Amino acid sequence: MPTYANPLVDFERGEGPWLYDSAGRQYLDALSGIAVCNLGHAHPAVTAALAEQAATLVHTSNLFGIPAQRELAKQLVAVSGMEQAFFCNSGAEANECALKIARAWGHQQGVDQPAVVVMERSFHGRTLATLSATGNRKVQAGFEPLVPGFRRAPFGDLQAVEAVARNESDVVAVLVEPVLGEGGVVIPQPGYLAGLRRICDEQGWLLMLDEIQTGMCRSGRWFAHEYEGIRPDVMSVAKALGNGVPIGACLARGPAADVLGAGSHGSTFGGNPLACRAALAVLEVMQNQQLAARAEQLGERIAGGLSAALADHPRVSEVRHLGMLIGIQMDRPAAALVELALAEGLVINVTAGSVVRLLPPLILSDDEADELVARLVRAAAAFATD
Ligand SMILES: *Cc1c(COP(=O)(O)O)cnc(C)c1O
Repeated sequence: MPTYANPLVDFERGEGPWLYDSAGRQYLDALSGIAVCNLGHAHPAVTAALAEQAATLVHTSNLFGIPAQRELAKQLVAVSGMEQAFFCNSGAEANECALKIARAWGHQQGVDQPAVVVMERSFHGRTLATLSATGNRKVQAGFEPLVPGFRRAPFGDLQAVEAVARNESDVVAVLVEPVLGEGGVVIPQPGYLAGLRRICDEQGWLLMLDEIQTGMCRSGRWFAHEYEGIRPDVMSVAKALGNGVPIGACLARGPAADVLGAGSHGSTFGGNPLACRAALAVLEVMQNQQLAARAEQLGERIAGGLSAALADHPRVSEVRHLGMLIGIQMDRPAAALVELALAEGLVINVTAGSVVRLLPPLILSDDEADELVARLVRAAAAFATD
C-alpha cells in the first residue's frame, strides 16, 4: 500500500555508517534507519549473533522458556534500573503495553475510567491507542473514533499538568518523550522530567517515559531521563534495541512491575530467541565501547560544527541537540533538503515540516563526523540559494 511517498533511492548494502545504492554509490548515513542502527550497518557482533542463532533456534513462542530472553531482561533492567521487562516487536507495541499497565493499575486503584496525560506534538506510534496518544492531528485524521482516556498538555509545561491534576480525578499516569523526536527534536527545559516525577509522586500517578527514540545511548546517556536524576515507573524502548532486528520492550519498576499477571498480555513473536540474541549483542557492544559517552562527545562535535558553519545561513534559526539527537530548525518548510543531501551523498531526515533531524550511528569516527558536517553544510548552501 502506498503509505510512504515514492523513495528517492534503493540501498543494497551497508557497512558501519556507510550505505551503498543499487548503482554502487556511497552515502554517509546520518539517520540510522530512524534511530535504529545505532551501531551502524552490518555490525560484526550483531551479524555473528544473528547467524549463530539463526542456525540454532529462531522461534518457539512464549509458551516455553527462552534463556536469551531471560538474559536480555536481566541485562536491560541492570542498565536501566527497572525491574521487569515485557518483550514485543516495535515501539508502538511497547507503548501499548505501557498504556495497558496504566489502565490496569488505574482499575486496581478503583478508577473506573482511567486516563493518561499525554503531550501536544508528541509521537507514540501508529496503532489505534498510540495514535490516539500522539499529539499530531495528521497521524490521527481519518482514523476516528480515537481511543478515549487521554488528557493533553503542552509539552514542557509543568503548570498545565498541575492544572490537569487539580481538575481531573480520573488520571492515573503521564506518558511523555524526554525529547520530542518526530515532533522536531524539541528539548525541554532542565527540570521538566524531574517536575513530572514530583507531580506523579504527589498524585500517585505512574510516570511512563517513551524512550523509544531517545534510549539506547542516543542521548549521550543509556536513557535520556538520567540527565534529570530520576527514574520512571514504566519505560518503553525499541528502535535501537535490536540494531534493525525488530524488538521492543516495556520496562517497569515498583508497583507498575506487578500489574500485568499471567494471561493479561502477550505476543507471539515478542522476545523470540533471534531478536533477543541481536539485542544482547547490541547491549554488549554499547557497554564495552561506552557508546553513551561517545554519543555525548560526537553530538558536541557535530552540533558544534554545524552551529559554527551555519551561523550566517539565512534560513537556519537554531541548531539544537541532546547527544546524537540533532535538530536544525529552518525558518521554512525544508523537505527539499533531503534530496539536496542525497546529492551530496548524505542521508538525513526532515521532520515537523521545517526541522532537519540527524540521528547518526554512534560508531562514527571523528573524521566521519566532520565529513557529515561538511556534506550537510554543502546541502544547506544549495538550500539557501535554490
Ligand atoms: C518510532 C517511535 C515510536 C513508534 O515505534 P514503531 O517501532 O514505529 O512502532 C514511538 N515513540 C517514539 C518516541 C518513536 O520515536
